[in-house]
Amino acid sequence: MNIFQQMESEVRSYSRAFPVIFKQARGSYLFDEQGKAYLDFLSGAGSLNYGHNNPLIKKALLDYIEQDGIAHGLDMHTQAKATFLENLRDIILTPRGLEYRVQFTGPTGANAVEAALKIARKVKGRSGVIAFTNGFHGVSLGAVAATGNQHHRGGAGVPLNNIERMPFCGYHGRDTDTLKMMDKLLSDPSSGVDIPAAVIVEVVQGEGGLNVAADTWLQGLQKLCRKHDMLLIVDDIQAGCGRTGSFFSFESSGIKPDIVTLSKSLSGFGLPLSIVLLNPALDQWLPGEHNGTFRGNNHAFITATAALQTYWRDDYFVREIAQKSVIVQQELKAMLDAYQPLALRLKGRGLMQGIECASGEIADAICAHAFERSVVIETAGNQGQVVKVFCPLTISEEDLRKGLKLLALSFAATMRDYTARKTA
Ligand SMILES: *Cc1c(COP(=O)(O)O)cnc(C)c1O
Repeated sequence: MNIFQQMESEVRSYSRAFPVIFKQARGSYLFDEQGKAYLDFLSGAGSLNYGHNNPLIKKALLDYIEQDGIAHGLDMHTQAKATFLENLRDIILTPRGLEYRVQFTGPTGANAVEAALKIARKVKGRSGVIAFTNGFHGVSLGAVAATGNQHHRGGAGVPLNNIERMPFCGYHGRDTDTLKMMDKLLSDPSSGVDIPAAVIVEVVQGEGGLNVAADTWLQGLQKLCRKHDMLLIVDDIQAGCGRTGSFFSFESSGIKPDIVTLSKSLSGFGLPLSIVLLNPALDQWLPGEHNGTFRGNNHAFITATAALQTYWRDDYFVREIAQKSVIVQQELKAMLDAYQPLALRLKGRGLMQGIECASGEIADAICAHAFERSVVIETAGNQGQVVKVFCPLTISEEDLRKGLKLLALSFAATMRDYTARKTA
């Protein structure tokens, strides 16, 4: 029995799929205690978009620590925070025509979601919030109420209230307009659906199986929100920070959400940092009304600023992501063609793509075969049936192709297992 089995709670999860002890990480690679390299197609579930220990970002942090820069300062003014806010405004918000107040929440994504839900309810004076099928918003009580996943909801131990579930884009198949259904329910005074304070949505559902909300659907959703006086919250915790090909996942749709949550790759270094972006008119908080000891992690401000300055000042990075997305799509398409009936369809967008498999069991077998080939990759989806390619956005083309090749070999190995089982 190792120290983890002896000491660590049964709640541990990723470590069960990747049962080695990791020691170092650089760029797109993790290294175990023996120095064996693993290609990282998980990227901290989207927290490591710029790779592990990105040297440009690391340098800024090392310099800051060396100079005894503030590590913790509650939510006091610090130079590091000022610089981060200026860079967020000048590099990200202003060029996109977005004007938001920035709320620093506790360090987790779930805490940003809690804050977003709270302020929406406070401003509108209504308790209901619409969340979608297969949405994932975190596991604290308010956030897990908005999350669809039964396994996570089951852990709550109390009734999960004040959420109205609606079908996501495409949930009832291509020919059903789920917005029309919502509009009817919200317009009918006897539908039993009260007008909620807000709608919370992911543009690409990261945990829910890489389901994509079409741009036209998002535009329609924004219209629906305005028609029924609901705030539009985009949870961009996983799909944001470049994952879908632009800094925010909603940019191609042209919508302007009232509230946006960001976390995961915001710090650029895997450090915890979460924010809520608020339409200024919604910033009706009283001082400290939503607080937290670790609001604003100054080390994360330094790395987040370095990430913005390094990758987002021009469109070079965006073009690179687009090129890599095409490679992923082409290679996944080839796997789809080669490994039917195990592989059913392509999912996702940008560097947030995957293959839906015939079952969760098959997807798990593919990921296990990939790990045998030193690739760290996981599944998503309501049945865990989607193999999710989540490489760092900064991965070299060579490593990207290598990882996809190993993934194809993992599909082939799984195919052999299943044919052998059938003929046995
Ligand atoms: C990961 C995630 C969260 C929760 O973030 P935590 O830091 O795990 O609390 C919320 N929403 C989305 C879309 C996520 O992917």
